[in-house]
Amino acid sequence: MPIRVLKFGGSSVANAENINRVISVISTSLNKNQAVVIVLSAMGGTTDALIEAATIASKGDITYKEKLQDIEQRHLSTVKELFPLDQQSSILSRVKKRCNDIEDICNGVFLLKELSGRSKDSISGYGEILSSLIFSEKLMSTGINNSWKDSRELIKTDSEFGAANVDFDKTDKNIKSFFSSVSENIIVVPGFIASDKNGNTTTLGRGGSDYTAAIIAAAADASVLEIWTDVSGMMTADPRLVSNAKIINHISYEEAMELSHFGAKVIYPPTIQPVMNKKIPVSIKNTFLPNEEGTLIQTGIAKDESSVRGISSIPRLALLSLEGSGMVGIPGFSKRLFEALSGEKINVILITQSSSEHSICVGVEEINSARAKEVVDKIFAYEIGIKKVQPLVVETDLSIVALVGDNMKNHTGISGKMFSAMGRNGINIRAIAQGSSERNISAVIGSRDVKKAINVLHEEFFETTYKQVNLFICGTGNVGSKLLSQLQQQQKHLREHLRLQVRITGITNSKKMFLSDDGIDLSNWREKLQSGEPANLSEFISTIKKKNLRNSIFVDVTASSEVAECYPSLLEKSISVVACNKVAASSSYEYYKKLKDLAREFNSLFLFETNVGAGLPVIGTLNDLLRSGDKVNRIEAVLSGTLNFVFNNYNGEKSFAKVVRQAQDEGYTEPDPRLDLSGTDVMRKIMILARETGENLEMEDITNNSFMPASCMTGDVENFYSEMEKNEEHFLKLIEEASKAGKKLKFLARYENGKASVGLQSIDPRHDFYHLYGKDNAVLFYTDRYPEQPLVIKGAGAGAEVTASGVFADIIRASAPTN
Ligand code: ADP
Ligand code: ASP
Ligand code: MG
Repeated sequence: MPIRVLKFGGSSVANAENINRVISVISTSLNKNQAVVIVLSAMGGTTDALIEAATIASKGDITYKEKLQDIEQRHLSTVKELFPLDQQSSILSRVKKRCNDIEDICNGVFLLKELSGRSKDSISGYGEILSSLIFSEKLMSTGINNSWKDSRELIKTDSEFGAANVDFDKTDKNIKSFFSSVSENIIVVPGFIASDKNGNTTTLGRGGSDYTAAIIAAAADASVLEIWTDVSGMMTADPRLVSNAKIINHISYEEAMELSHFGAKVIYPPTIQPVMNKKIPVSIKNTFLPNEEGTLIQTGIAKDESSVRGISSIPRLALLSLEGSGMVGIPGFSKRLFEALSGEKINVILITQSSSEHSICVGVEEINSARAKEVVDKIFAYEIGIKKVQPLVVETDLSIVALVGDNMKNHTGISGKMFSAMGRNGINIRAIAQGSSERNISAVIGSRDVKKAINVLHEEFFETTYKQVNLFICGTGNVGSKLLSQLQQQQKHLREHLRLQVRITGITNSKKMFLSDDGIDLSNWREKLQSGEPANLSEFISTIKKKNLRNSIFVDVTASSEVAECYPSLLEKSISVVACNKVAASSSYEYYKKLKDLAREFNSLFLFETNVGAGLPVIGTLNDLLRSGDKVNRIEAVLSGTLNFVFNNYNGEKSFAKVVRQAQDEGYTEPDPRLDLSGTDVMRKIMILARETGENLEMEDITNNSFMPASCMTGDVENFYSEMEKNEEHFLKLIEEASKAGKKLKFLARYENGKASVGLQSIDPRHDFYHLYGKDNAVLFYTDRYPEQPLVIKGAGAGAEVTASGVFADIIRASAPTN
């Protein structure tokens, strides 16, 4: 008769309600012509609780009794919930009896203050005994006849307590002879436990119930092994780390084995081997959503052509590096290293060796690293003494992330894509290993980067739908609030057309800050911000770094120098900076250069298009010219939307001061309008353009032919306005002289031959600049390719809406740097 083996995990039997669910899953699929073996885990969390109680007892701490009480209570109350009153007493007394047995062993541990591997296994194995006994009785009371079989009588192992090795000869014989003699069609078996040749209870390793089921399935030549758990199959990544992880419907044994070895906890790694040898298909199903397709593990490459099947990770890794000139060309070093480690039963998870043979690097579990150092340094004591080899270097706090897929070998560029995606996000790679089967590419990285790395890789290889970008916005004034409303309006467009999921993860202004990993709902960001914590810039910045989210962008829409000082610490964490704040790009050349260099070194972007010409594409165009090999010979520009507005609107009817006030009221000035009127803002802009062409220019190097009377520029902003009123005659004279000559006044910036100057000029009607209206800006680039007729960029050069849209464009540039 064909046999099906079903295994239900800890969460599937965690309480009475779930146990009833399992019973209904089983009863709907029962078939008279098929035998069924049901392997059960302990009720979720029981194994941990038993080990904890035993550990407490071994320290001589009497509170282990309370832990045991809790375990007992949990099982007794589950029985009470599952069975009608008249059936309870016999099963309650059987549960009680096992709990007394556990307590007896723990009492011994408590008295001896010693927890041997043997005692630990016999205590921790009781979870499965209890759950399977209760389950078998419940099946009976539902009318499903079955027999409980102690797996310790079937599965024989050596005495490696904690993770015993199966004696397959004996085990297979036991299982075959059991099935040839058993009369019931339904057998209930506790997972996880086995026994050694002396009859002691052993365990198969944490998560080992899957293995129990596979061993039985293989020996009994089952038609299928079904692993019922709390997810709908093996997924492209651990769903606890990647919210967009997808179910893999078909996967080969080799891929499943590789993924589980590299951390996909949904299946215990040794499980695959026995069923793979017998070509028994494995189906992973969700107890809580039994109609979902789940994952089918079987022979051969799955039908679809995807190159990467899944991504997984192993935490708590240590890298051991053995280095030295004495290793070059001399055989036997690696052998001695591996022998030293295996002698200590230290499992090597990953190996890399540089082709120079000058060093060899292996990854082991972090808990083994101290022991590893001791034995390796001892084995190489002689070579270390004569300085041919250096003492073993141990690095901890590391993890492995691995891409797995049978098909990867048929696709080129996968590792390139893997490493560049991580590089773009500032994830430092300590070591790389690629198996010769090319089924696995592993990278060793810092543990703090694991979540970010897996999400970045998942996005790169699985999410054709969209890429998530995390924005941290600093400043909610004129430009900031316009930007937020543009982002809100465009969210759908960005998702549908650019495949960008732009999430505002943090907002701060000078009063409040608010951060949310789930993204801030832009329809009520003001209320959210209001409900936030008092603003604290350094805390805001350190939280951004601590969060370590992929594709993070810091957006500075302030005019603050304190904020501009934070850029280096962000750029060096590969967080891009988009600034309309001009302070950084126009501070010392040294600082400007430092920011550019940091961005290059750490694969981040430092973008400040709106520093010149607001939303006009001035810096972007200049860079495109330079990148394509053109040379800029001269720049002439009207770069102050404010001054243009002022001179276009000033005709003597209203005083000059009033026109300036109007410009400020309409949001066309810097927060401090003196920066515009003095020409300083234009100086900053022409300096930034010159710097972008490669010129090392400082503010002092720029000539400013200011038209402002000196008295306006001393004192505060109010003094500035009242002094302008007093000097109305001076301003009138300026425009009258120009209009008499049929000209207009424009505040110009010029850069040529390394020299820059700014100042007011009378412009003739034939000149491009004459026809600049409102708050327009214009930039003329005279280059090798545009020698006489310059490249002209002209349009609105001030205003919150256009500046915000320029910032928006930089955000898009920083979000999709490869496009
Ligand atoms: P059970 O108790 O049923 O044996 P486990 O907790 O051992 O269940 O394994 C299932 C869990 O494995 C899931 O809840 C999920 O959080 C985790 N997991 C880790 N990686 C993966 C993956 N790649 N696919 C599916 N689940 C995964
Ligand atoms: N109960 C055991 C554990 O928690 C075995 C299992 O659940 O597979 O490790
Ligand atoms: Mg498990």
